[in-house]
Amino acid sequence: MTSTQEWYDLVILGSGSTAFAAAIHAKDLGKTAVMTEGRTLGGTCVNRGCLPSKNLIEAARLVYDSAHPRYPGLTPAHLGVDFPSLIAQKDEVILDYRDQHYASLLADADEEGQPPIDVVAGRAVLVDAHTAKVAAPDGTVRQLTGSQVLIATGSSPLIPDIPGLAETPYLTSDLLTSQEKVELTELPHSLLILGGGYIALELGQMFARFGSQVTLITRGSSILSGYEPEITLTLTNILREEGLQIVTAAQASAVHCEGDEVALVIQRHGSSRTISAEKLLMATSRRPNTHDLGLERVGVALDGTGAVCVDQHLRTSVSHIWAAGDVIGRETDSQMATPVGAHDGKIAAHNALSGEPLQKVDHSVIPRTIFTDPQVAVVGLTDEEANAAGIICECNTIPLSVIPRAGTIRDTRGVIKMVLEHPTRRVVGVSMLGVNAGEVIGEAAMAMRFGATTDDFIDLIHVYPTMAEALKLVAISFTRDVNRLSCCAS
Ligand SMILES: Cc1cc2nc3c(=O)[nH]c(=O)nc-3n(C[C@H](O)[C@H](O)[C@H](O)COP(=O)(O)OP(=O)(O)OC[C@H]3O[C@@H](n4cnc5c(N)ncnc54)[C@H](O)[C@@H]3O)c2cc1C
Repeated sequence: MTSTQEWYDLVILGSGSTAFAAAIHAKDLGKTAVMTEGRTLGGTCVNRGCLPSKNLIEAARLVYDSAHPRYPGLTPAHLGVDFPSLIAQKDEVILDYRDQHYASLLADADEEGQPPIDVVAGRAVLVDAHTAKVAAPDGTVRQLTGSQVLIATGSSPLIPDIPGLAETPYLTSDLLTSQEKVELTELPHSLLILGGGYIALELGQMFARFGSQVTLITRGSSILSGYEPEITLTLTNILREEGLQIVTAAQASAVHCEGDEVALVIQRHGSSRTISAEKLLMATSRRPNTHDLGLERVGVALDGTGAVCVDQHLRTSVSHIWAAGDVIGRETDSQMATPVGAHDGKIAAHNALSGEPLQKVDHSVIPRTIFTDPQVAVVGLTDEEANAAGIICECNTIPLSVIPRAGTIRDTRGVIKMVLEHPTRRVVGVSMLGVNAGEVIGEAAMAMRFGATTDDFIDLIHVYPTMAEALKLVAISFTRDVNRLSCCAS
């Protein structure tokens, strides 16, 4: 076994989007940076999260829309689903993307003489407050010493303790990965999904559209706990109409194999019931990757959820150790999402290396989207959150049937809700369920960043007919009946 010791300005644990943003910024500052990676270069988003899921979700939408055309005059067409080939094309897309947007950035120093970004394969453990020991699969051990350290190790599926689960095969969202044994290459004829969050919904609808019988089981009284009830109720109805079974308020109490199937015992309203399927997907939650990193040894504090505690500058309890991305969980009101990690990774590198005044993170406006069809997109506070924050608020919800674009393309599924601060009429939250909601929410986020009121949404000339007009119409709905307006009228 060989062991080498190397020195860097910044040692980064992880090589996901957070780590890359930090490493690129370090390089821009003329500093040396090294990332470490225990699995696949690029982390969760590119390899087993955002991109593979969105690739397959779009294929499933094509299958569904062909079979269910919204226009009289179009004949339903049943597209054959060759699941292994779909998986193969997904792997190809991911490989290309990873090469272009991650691996290619590791090239040698560029013309301006900036240092290259290094990456070391293998699991890293902090052996002291400046040094990560990385054991490569080939037995080589490298000691990477940094004057500054960034923890960007991401998160993993959180598996609840259910009797029998340890002896039962199950899937996690890692089924989307490529070149790893856990990749799913055969379409299950039936699938039980435990969880009611965004991963459960995105993958549940996708598998159902490819042809699996999907049963979704969630502990909460509705799917998507914490979201506006108008959104969750409407989405539940849409998914049920598509054929997904959704069982709410259910507690999984045991699981076992029964022949070729998995049988899950659930407790619901005082009675017990067993539901079986070919495969079980655990989509319960995600936990920050802070275990076995040596954090206790070096004095990095964790919060009650196991996330790394950070201040507004992303500094941990050890002054030269920083943390960003999924690994900080909900610290500083953060959220586990790729653009949040990428944004914060750059701030962490700036604060660690630039010698300039420290930058603070601002997590008050984070737009996010759930890629169901139709999409759910939200920014800011829900009605309940605004009340809990002591904001006296007014709320209004309108159906998308009043949006000209929705009516004209015959897709009026969904609602939009706006939350205002009273009496300023400043918009503090928007939640939308509807076609292209993920694109619409960007306008709301930008407006909220600058303290927009309903008048700002009303006065802005929107492109006609687009789904973004939903923002204008819901703003108008606080003072007028939006059913009694002509086209584009304010
Ligand atoms: C199914 C799914 C769909 C998603 N869809 C979206 C979406 O549409 N939009 C969105 O914004 N977000 C989405 N996300 C969330 C997004 O993927 C994460 O928020 C993002 O990848 C977090 O980036 P990160 O760099 O903080 O962590 P990661 O990308 O997880 O990177 C951390 C890396 O560190 C490595 N690591 C961990 N411990 C060690 C160690 N000890 N030594 C060396 N390496 C280590 C891990 O292997 C990992 O590769 C999705 C997630 C999933 C699971």
